[in-house]
Amino acid sequence: APVILWFRFDLRLHDHAGVLAALESGRPVLPLYIWDEDVATRPMGAASKWWLHRSLEALDADLRKQGSRLIIERGNSQIILASLSREFGVKTIYCSKTFDPKNEQYDEELADELAAAGLELKRLNTTLLSSPGALSTQGGTPFRVFTPFYKALLASGACDIAPLPSLPETLWPKPAEWPASLTVADLGLQPKFTPSGKDWSKGFSRFRPGEAGARGALRHFLKNHLQSYEINRDRPDLDITSHLSPHLRFGEISPQRILFETERAADADHRLQAGAAKFRAELAWREFSYSLLTQQPRLHEINFRRDFDRFDWRQDDRQFRAWCRGETGYELVDAGMRELWQTGYMHNRVRMVAASFLVKHLLIDWRRGEQWFWDCLLDADPANNPASWQWVAGSGADAAPYFRIFNPITQAEKFDPKGDYRGRYIQGYTHLCTGTNNSRKQAELFDKQDKASNYPQPIVDHAQARDRALETYKNRAAYE
Ligand code: FAD
Repeated sequence: APVILWFRFDLRLHDHAGVLAALESGRPVLPLYIWDEDVATRPMGAASKWWLHRSLEALDADLRKQGSRLIIERGNSQIILASLSREFGVKTIYCSKTFDPKNEQYDEELADELAAAGLELKRLNTTLLSSPGALSTQGGTPFRVFTPFYKALLASGACDIAPLPSLPETLWPKPAEWPASLTVADLGLQPKFTPSGKDWSKGFSRFRPGEAGARGALRHFLKNHLQSYEINRDRPDLDITSHLSPHLRFGEISPQRILFETERAADADHRLQAGAAKFRAELAWREFSYSLLTQQPRLHEINFRRDFDRFDWRQDDRQFRAWCRGETGYELVDAGMRELWQTGYMHNRVRMVAASFLVKHLLIDWRRGEQWFWDCLLDADPANNPASWQWVAGSGADAAPYFRIFNPITQAEKFDPKGDYRGRYIQGYTHLCTGTNNSRKQAELFDKQDKASNYPQPIVDHAQARDRALETYKNRAAYE
């Protein structure tokens, strides 16, 4: 009888404990993907669906090279797993552990129900270096601060480099007959055109979804950018980071593979070591976010620090819309928001500045911004996105102190000194680029040049907005 290999956010064949275990069973393998919207903690955003569509196509193509294929179903996972197993006499299902708590709870119940029907659900960790919750402080509590968490992660051996077992080169054993399957297109994951008829996803083409794309991105990064990663990772104009985030989100590459290749590159060339150490720490931030998600399963809805629950957010739909559209009149914020809309990605430094602008300059609830990012980001991640938003808002664990208010003008001068990044997303930008560090001067300049470029006036005055944010944050205690 065959076994089922059930794919979820682990859309790859290499460095995948479930794939290896299924192949080692020596039985025919039924690779399966189920589009089950009931299970997801949150409905997937539009950009992520675009990615998923392509990633499933890539996975199917990779499986076909192994003499296999991806069976695609839509509906209730439990019903589909049970009926497919009945039909094909399956006794064992391999899948990856999910680390968002609602799904984990679902998996527990699913495992029990399937066990009652004589089926075993084998769940393996294929997506994180360490299972969230595995690490705790000396007092036995979960970590709330990154640095000690990272130390514990390193001490646990989770980042140690071990040889990665390779995928057998032989064709995969297949069943006597393949079950019926939908096509990827049947899942309707691609609302390709906006109401205006514009092909909204055109700009996404800088990414190549799928395992080969992930490996390619890693190779490119290690060869060209690891060396300068430590010093240039904050520069959106140089754009030298790995762009692995959507690949990691969909499990197209394992963090172990990333560490392994990075370490190998740094061993061969000592000039890469500082970059490698910094890059490893960034990967650990992803682990930390998942550990926070375990502590607060509704991280995208609930303030990690409950003293923020009665924060007096402003409901300003017009300013919120201006922010979403990249029309705040602050160039770095606007360039970032346009990058997000046009490419499904935004550089990390600009994410911080744009998010800070929404919650501090506009005093708009971080949850609204988080949701917009969730819809627009190809890498929209149930842990990284809300954890980062809460970090910026100050409501998170180990959050930025409230008085840290990014100045979008000086940030632009520091991290996009020649305006190359802003110029990429703001039409007619080059002649507007001034190097001014004063919002009034900037506004005066715009008065003169605005008409030619259609670029909006600043929607708030930086200095006033900053004072208002400081005041509101300071008074937060009064809400208690
Ligand atoms: P690299 O610099 O090459 O880093 C490598 C990997 O390390 C990333 O792919 C990512 O998995 C991890 N990483 C890097 N920085 C962080 C970080 N600050 N926190 C957690 N993990 C990190 N990241 C997401 O993956 N999904 C999100 O939805 C997301 N939303 C964010 C929202 C806000 C407001 C902010 C400030 C940050 C957010 N991040 C998110 C974190 C970070 O911006 C992205 O991971 C990074 O920009 C992805 O680009 P990269 O792969 O080139 O990063």
